Amino acid sequence: MPNPMVDDAKEIREDNPFESMMSRFDRAAQMLDLDPDLYAVMRVPNRELKVYIPVKMDSGRIEIFEGYRVQHNVARGPAKGGIRYSPDVTIDEVRALAAWMTWKCAVVNVPFGGAKGGVICDPLQMSMGELERMTRRYTAEILDFIGPEKDVPAPDMNTNEQTMAWIMDTYSMHARHTVTAVVTGKPIDLGGSSGRREATGRGILFVVNEAIKRFKMTPQSTKVAVQGSGNVGGIGARLLYDAGYKVVAVSDVHGGIYNPNGIDIPAALDHLEATRSFEGFPGVEFVTNSQLLELECDVLVPAATENQITSHNAERIKCKVLAEGANGPTTAAADEILHRKGIFVIPDILANAGGVTVSYFEWVQDRMGYFWGEDVVNQRLQDKMVASFNDLCRYADSRSVDTRTAAYMLAIDRVAYDTRMRGIYA
Ligand code: NAD
Repeated sequence: MPNPMVDDAKEIREDNPFESMMSRFDRAAQMLDLDPDLYAVMRVPNRELKVYIPVKMDSGRIEIFEGYRVQHNVARGPAKGGIRYSPDVTIDEVRALAAWMTWKCAVVNVPFGGAKGGVICDPLQMSMGELERMTRRYTAEILDFIGPEKDVPAPDMNTNEQTMAWIMDTYSMHARHTVTAVVTGKPIDLGGSSGRREATGRGILFVVNEAIKRFKMTPQSTKVAVQGSGNVGGIGARLLYDAGYKVVAVSDVHGGIYNPNGIDIPAALDHLEATRSFEGFPGVEFVTNSQLLELECDVLVPAATENQITSHNAERIKCKVLAEGANGPTTAAADEILHRKGIFVIPDILANAGGVTVSYFEWVQDRMGYFWGEDVVNQRLQDKMVASFNDLCRYADSRSVDTRTAAYMLAIDRVAYDTRMRGIYA
């Protein structure tokens, strides 16, 4: 069936994230024999907002930035999803990420739909003042569309706790009272949740713990390679190391380090923080990011960015378990190759769902005005991740499908059920 969102595209590229998401959606919808009317509703976003944001730069000149907010689906609750700042933001990317949020929230069964936002800008070239003015104006432009009951943004690439505090403050100024639950990923003192910063990495640890049991492995006998060393990769690598895994490789955008006997991850991350590079770290071999993906290991955690495992390198991936920390690290064209090779995939919409799960906990705590200790947050996160992992495996086994297809089927099934019950499309 033609895709209304990309009909104009002359050629569909493997690395188009929206196409990547849609081809998995289409396959899962077909396997579910999804009602054609529900299919028509669920394959398009609910709402796309494009805003032009005038910002007074430090030079005194006005610069206009282009921003988006896409709400993909709100059948199961308020839309939920991050805001990214990057020169590479495109509407296709934001659309894909918004849809992924719908499926992710459904896979871990939290009562949210999916959304994503983005502003085309180069945050590394902007001062804090410029970033604050841009964030506040962007918030003002999308103000009618966000809110605790409507759409709850969070940090994503190049946005952080500070960005969320500005958004919360701008929203609150217009509401004339403090509304902490309008965003998640806030500083703890401003209604943030304990454990939110580590939640995505911790969620990866919990699902990897479950996955290696299927191979009768223990953390001590498991070699892990991690691509990326930011919030997801860095914290994930450290938590895996603390849990006894042998982390043999880790990288940042410039490349990685490798030691088949394991790396002292806290020391490597300290070195990275101090020197802004892994270069000069002793007792390791230096590898490129593409070499890292092809290393001998039991568990591979791509936790950097999209389109890392494609039809070009999937054949050379050697891990037993692929735990997708990043959003969309594997293209749809690579799925079949990984499946044929017998690699057990923990798809992104489950593997990195620890972040949105604790965001849900943050939203709950903000609305209650009562905050939980970190041990409570971590225990509830573990319960959610392990239950979701087991649901997914049962679903995949009972329908004899791979885990990626199962994750999409499970998510679409849940969203379709709620859409049908609400009668949204009637
Ligand atoms: P981050 O900016 O904190 O870290 C990104 C890391 O990847 C850095 O180490 C960076 O050097 C590296 N990197 C960037 N571009 C790269 C490239 N082209 N090749 C290799 N390495 C590269 O970002 P993050 O929050 O860790 O997010 C990483 C991924 O995880 C993204 O896909 C994001 O959407 C996804 N994700 C993040 C969260 C979260 O809670 N932070 C939750 C779910 C999914």
